[in-house]
Amino acid sequence: KTHEQLQQLRGNIRVLCRVRPLLGDASENVATTMPLPGMIRLRKSKRNIDFEYNSCFGGDSTQEEVFEEILPLVMSFVDGYNACIFAYGQTGSGKTFTMQGTNESPGIAPRVLHFLFQHSRQSQETGVERRIEFSMLEVYNEGVKDLMSSASHKNLDICALGPHQLGPNMERVPGLTKKTVTRVSEIEALIEQGTRKRATTSHSLNDHSSRSHAVISIRYCDANDAEAPAPVLHLVDLAGSERVAKSGVQGVHLKEAQAINKSLSALGDVIASLQQKSSHTPYRNSKLTQLLQDSLSGNSKVLMVCNISPEESSASETMSSLNFAKRAN
Ligand code: ADP
Ligand code: MG
Repeated sequence: KTHEQLQQLRGNIRVLCRVRPLLGDASENVATTMPLPGMIRLRKSKRNIDFEYNSCFGGDSTQEEVFEEILPLVMSFVDGYNACIFAYGQTGSGKTFTMQGTNESPGIAPRVLHFLFQHSRQSQETGVERRIEFSMLEVYNEGVKDLMSSASHKNLDICALGPHQLGPNMERVPGLTKKTVTRVSEIEALIEQGTRKRATTSHSLNDHSSRSHAVISIRYCDANDAEAPAPVLHLVDLAGSERVAKSGVQGVHLKEAQAINKSLSALGDVIASLQQKSSHTPYRNSKLTQLLQDSLSGNSKVLMVCNISPEESSASETMSSLNFAKRAN
């Protein structure tokens, strides 16, 4: 079977669950085990609850292993399919580690780009010149901000037209800064710069990054034909999924919590609707789903990474993350 046929058989929406290793105090009680491949068992209130996903990775998994698992999606992307990978989970569960990683242990984004640079060199040898376009934005309180423009702090608009009205290489976010990139070191600098820009609206980066969605968008273009359809890949580090206690939250934090709930549940609804192949997909319910619309359609490749914390103290949040992921599986 060709690579493409195999991809079709594997389905367009996949769920990968990754358990973070214990940090620091390793004597803490652990609530999750992996009794079988593809299965996560959560121990909560003295009960075992089992969840099955396309693939599960434990605390000892490496960034290489995770990348290997997503390689088929990346291959589909270079073959011309739109694609989207997002990391869902409570704050501290390993979303940023998985998507971005660290210098010593690079995550999905730098690895995907490294792969694309290699692929574009190979395709140059066969006479096809490629160009890789990179942009980075955040969605915060239902507003979209460019993380690569040094100038403006104002919110950008999202074009709400359907893909057919918009044409092939449409601009979903007109005015968004895009950079042609050629080396991994460039990417690292851009991500660092973008991450720094993200922090400016809050007193602490960690605080802010847990309340906004960060989206890296990569377009793989034909350098000699601007009209040729160029697939887009979105890499999304979602806001923390933790439920904010209803009482005691006011003002700014209440607004933030409502915006996060709205966008995460809209995302869940869109994925469930794709999974059920329903005729109407509710993209309009949040900025995030409008933004990702072109990569969240019937024939795009979607991967949800469900990040969970192993500690017993996180069991309730873990349960709700595993349930969210179950809807997509
Ligand atoms: P989130 O982005 O979901 O809030 P982070 O990615 O920042 O969580 O992870 C929280 C902490 O745990 C960080 O210090 C991170 O380096 C560490 N961490 C997360 N996942 C792993 C992992 N698989 N292996 C080693 N350290 C990890
Ligand atoms: Mg993070």
